[in-house]
Parts: sequence; C-alpha cells; structure tokens
Amino acid sequence: SALYRIDEWGAPYFSVNSSGNVAVRPYGAGSLAHQEIDLLKIVKKVSDPKSAGGLGLRLPLIVRLPDVLKNRVESLHSAFESAIQAQCYESHYQGVYPVKCNQDRLVVEDIVKFGAPFRFGLEAGSKPELLLAMSCLCKGNPEALLVCNGFKDAEYVSLALIAKKLALNTVIVLEQEEEVNLVIDLTNKLSVRPVIGVRAKLRTKHSGHFGSTSGEKGKFGLTTTQILRVVKKLQDSGMLDCLQLLHFHIGSQIPSTALLQDGVVEATQIYSELVRLGACMKVIDIGGGLGVDYDGSKSGNSDLSVSYGLEEYASAVVNAIRIICDRKSIKHPIICSESGRAIVSHHSILIFEAISATVNTPAMNHIDLPLVIEGLSEDARCDYWNLSDAAMRHENETCLLYADQLKQRCVDQFIEGSLRIEQLADVDGLFDLVSKVIGAAEPARIYNVNLSIFTSIPDFWSIGQVFPIIPIHRLDEKPEVRGVLSDLTCDSDGKIDKFIGGETSLLLHELEGNDGGANGQYYLGMFLGGAYQEALGGVHNLFGGPNVVSVLQSDGPQSFAVTRAVPGPSRADVLRMLQHEPELMFETLKHRAEEFHVEDHDNDGTNYATLISSLARSFHNMPYLNALSPCSYE
Ligand code: PLP
Repeated sequence: SALYRIDEWGAPYFSVNSSGNVAVRPYGAGSLAHQEIDLLKIVKKVSDPKSAGGLGLRLPLIVRLPDVLKNRVESLHSAFESAIQAQCYESHYQGVYPVKCNQDRLVVEDIVKFGAPFRFGLEAGSKPELLLAMSCLCKGNPEALLVCNGFKDAEYVSLALIAKKLALNTVIVLEQEEEVNLVIDLTNKLSVRPVIGVRAKLRTKHSGHFGSTSGEKGKFGLTTTQILRVVKKLQDSGMLDCLQLLHFHIGSQIPSTALLQDGVVEATQIYSELVRLGACMKVIDIGGGLGVDYDGSKSGNSDLSVSYGLEEYASAVVNAIRIICDRKSIKHPIICSESGRAIVSHHSILIFEAISATVNTPAMNHIDLPLVIEGLSEDARCDYWNLSDAAMRHENETCLLYADQLKQRCVDQFIEGSLRIEQLADVDGLFDLVSKVIGAAEPARIYNVNLSIFTSIPDFWSIGQVFPIIPIHRLDEKPEVRGVLSDLTCDSDGKIDKFIGGETSLLLHELEGNDGGANGQYYLGMFLGGAYQEALGGVHNLFGGPNVVSVLQSDGPQSFAVTRAVPGPSRADVLRMLQHEPELMFETLKHRAEEFHVEDHDNDGTNYATLISSLARSFHNMPYLNALSPCSYE
C-alpha cells in the first residue's frame, strides 16, 4: 500500500487487506474490521453470471458506496458543529449539495436522506437541475435550503417562485444584475414573496486552474457597484427585506485555509454592509471549493492537493465570519456551504480491466539482428555490419547512429524501386528495436484497458486532472512493470500517462493466464472520481457510461449487499443519442441479408437465423469489449 500511497489519499476509506486486495471501510474511521468490504469480491459477485445471485454485469463498472456518502455528509456537518461549539458561534451550519457534481438520482436522493437531520439542502444551476432538486427536496427536511444559482431567464425565476409556493425553502441567488428585474416583475405577477440572495464577485483570487473564474475579472457574480444598484432597486420596490443571503464562490479545490479565509473575510464585510443598508440578512453562503487531496500529499501546491482537512476548513470559515461580525456587532449568520467535490468524490470507484499489454523489449545485448541483407546497397550493408559490431560492444550511441543511417539509405532505395517492402519493414523493425532499447533502459509498457477515458475520466483528458489509479488486487505481490494505460478509443488522447506523485507511468503486475490473479483478469480502480466525471463524460467512439452498482455494508457472510444494478447504455442506446434509429438500422441489415441470400450454411457454419440473432444482439450489448467471456459470434 505504501507503493501506491493508499494510506495517504485513501484515508480513512481505503486500505489493503490481508488478501492483498483493496478494502473499503464504509464508515471511514469509525468502521470495524468485520465491516470492511473487499472490492474484488464485489467485482466477482456482480460480474460472474454463474455465481449465485450473480448479476452478470461486465466491466467497466462504477461501484457506488452510499455508506461512504453518508459518512461524508455527517463528517462535514460535524466538522462545522465542532468549530461552532469550540468558538461559541451563535448560529448554525446547514450545507447544500450542488447537484451538478453528480446528478444521479440515487446519489441526490441519498444526500437528501442522509442530510435531513442536519437541514442539508440542494443547489441547482439550471432549470433541469432545479426540477430535480425541487422534487428530491419534497422528501427532505422542510428547513433545507434550495439555492438557485446560475444564469436565469423568466422561466427559471418562475420555476423558483413556484418552488417557494410549494413551501420549499428557496433562495433565488442573483448571478447577474438584470435578474433582479425579472424577480421583481415575476414576484408581482405570481404573488409570492421570494427570498433573494446575491452572488458577490470577490477580489480574492484563487490562482489554480479552478480559480480562473474568480477575482475581479471573473465570469460570475456582481461587483460592489452592481450590488448597490440591486439594493436600491429592491428598496424602491419595497422588497429589500427579501434580500437575505450573500453568496460567493472563489473556485473549486481551494488550496489553503489562508486563501479561504481571505475570501470569507471579504465576503463577510460585504454581508455586514448589506445589514447596514437595511437588508434582512440571514445566511452567508461560502460556495464550493472544499478540496480533495487527490495525491494525499497535503501540500496544497497544485490542483491535485489541498493542505487542510474538513476540520481545518470549517474552523477557518467559522473563525473568519465570527471575527468580522463581532467587530461590526452584527448577528452571526447561518453558514451555508455548497461543497460538492468533497461530498461525492470518495463514494464512487470506477473499476476496469487491463485486457492486454505490450511485451517487454529485450536488453541490447540480447538483440538478435536478423536482416536479409541481400539486395541492400553496399553502403547499407556496411551500416548493418557496423551496427552489429557496435551492439556486441554495447556501444549504444554508435548503434543508434548506424541504425539511423541504415534506415535512411533503405528508404531511399525503396523510393527508387530497388528494395522490396518486406525488406523495408525489417529495417523499420530493426530501427524501432534499437531506438527503444537505447531511448530508455526500461520503457513503459502499454496496458490496454477496457475503458473510454473520454466517457469515464473526462477531466484527465480535458484539464489534466490526475486521479489515484491502482490495481485493486495482487497488492501483496511486488509490481515489476512500469506501464501507461491506453483506452479503447481510436484517439491518441485516449491514454493515461500521468499519475499521482508526478509519475509518468504506473507500477503494474504482469498479466497472468487463466490460473492466476482474478481468473486471469487484471482489475484497476480509479478512486476519488465521484464528482463531475459522470456528468462531463461524452460518447466519443460511441462508448457510453459504465454499468453502475450500489453496494451497502451488511452483516451477512460477505459483509456487503448489492442494492442496485443499473446497466450502462447499450449500443442501441448510444446510437439513439445521436439520432440513429437502431430498429430501422436492424431492419436495413436484415433486408440486406435477405437480398444477398445469406445461405443456411455459409463459410463459417452459421446459418441465416444465427446471423440475424447475432445482429439483433449486437445492438443490445454494451459498447465495450466482452473481456470477461470470449464469445463466438457476437
Ligand atoms: N457552487 C458553485 C457556484 C460552483 O460553481 C461550484 C463548482 O465549481 C460548486 C458550488 C461546487 O464546488 P466544489 O465541487 O469545489 O465544492
């Protein structure tokens, strides 16, 4: 586990058990040994169609752990409660979950359920998100906030006002100045009194990737001048009492509590000024940004790491708000945060297989230099013999020089028409071999994985976000191979060659045959990826999302129970997303088979009916490789 730094990024949820497999501690630090869940057992159970109760779901697979989600919500709440008590803060904390981080129905429903004792609410940033938040919160705590962020049109504002009519604790947060006109107008039309918030554009700037929209020139929020104009408009309309919340968001992955405190202090000053101007201020909403320490280094010096934990974060927030409010003699506000990443990242694990790997390049002194030199020009032959001599003497630089020269001469000969393609291919192969051996003593091997990075780890491709990726088994065996991961897409960006710790390759085990490892399979897990990846993932090469299972800790013999299994989109489903019509496509292919009189017994012994049923099946299966069971005619 030290090799993969699991104890650092994985604490307190992931560790290695005595079988050498990754174990999940579902309740974090409070988990007991017998409650630990072996990830490999989950994979085997859900993927084996033969085992009792087996669901036969193939990889890639997302394993969701609602117990971990519950622990995250509770831990965040208790971190704030402890800070509030320790600092004699005279109000409370009630967070909201920004649904954009992961809109999966059960994830949102679970958060509402687990957060109900703490008045935990939801944040929406668009009309469909608002609809889902409204319906989910109907089953939540009536005091839970429904924070409406994002750019708004009249329809969005009306929907938020309807939510207020439905007795949901709704706050319309003004993201642009013009929105106030819509709110005033629609309030009169729909005769409902809204609660209004305003998003402030702070000067505090977070310099990392995720802070690019913060600071004075940031995309979101209102400047001080705009806030003053909004206050005036509300006052003129007799609605200043509706302004009750101040919101800001300085970006995701805030690296340090020092930066956080700067932002909170600046925002609390604005909050206190709004109190002075006569608004009925009640809540300060500090946005998202509570970070995840992806590499476990706690260094806070890259987008990958933050230098604090939940307790330090909560304590810094409470402290900054309290000091400013006490100085200005104003009532302590309710503290709301919109933490997304920190709530959902840990609960979801993406599991996929390595299906093959390139073979190791032999050492230079073992290079056999088989080349038919017949037909080669005199100079080229000379290069070849010099190359062989240099290889025997292990003179790498000289080898490369002669290999390069030889290749160039042969290319010229081929273009002239005096060399056969087989000979040129031999020379190319020889050149590749020499440059590989000399270029790196131990070049990283390519592990082909049954996955689409564009679908399942889009942040790696788009913004270079690195997640912990490790084998989920064989961790009691020393990994001897350095490898990079290459996915199924026909795209050169479909590879993972950056790993935590700044590594450009990952230590991996040799792939084994049928008798070793997990029945010959090699399973890898991508951890801490529960936020943003699923919503951002696309369908490049028409690979859809993975299968998803929910797994709860249970006291039965296996210590877990699979409570939900949702198959990923079939090939027909992904085709439909792009307006293809699988049923018509199938009919077209069927007619073609009839037209071309596919005989009962064609070349490989399949008959017409088998062909048609294979075609039908090929629309219904998943887009990924059927790595778990080689199938003859699929
Ligand atoms: N609130 C707002 C307004 C955001 O834009 C975001 C994301 O960037 C969040 C909350 C969630 O942030 P995080 O996932 O860093 O907690």
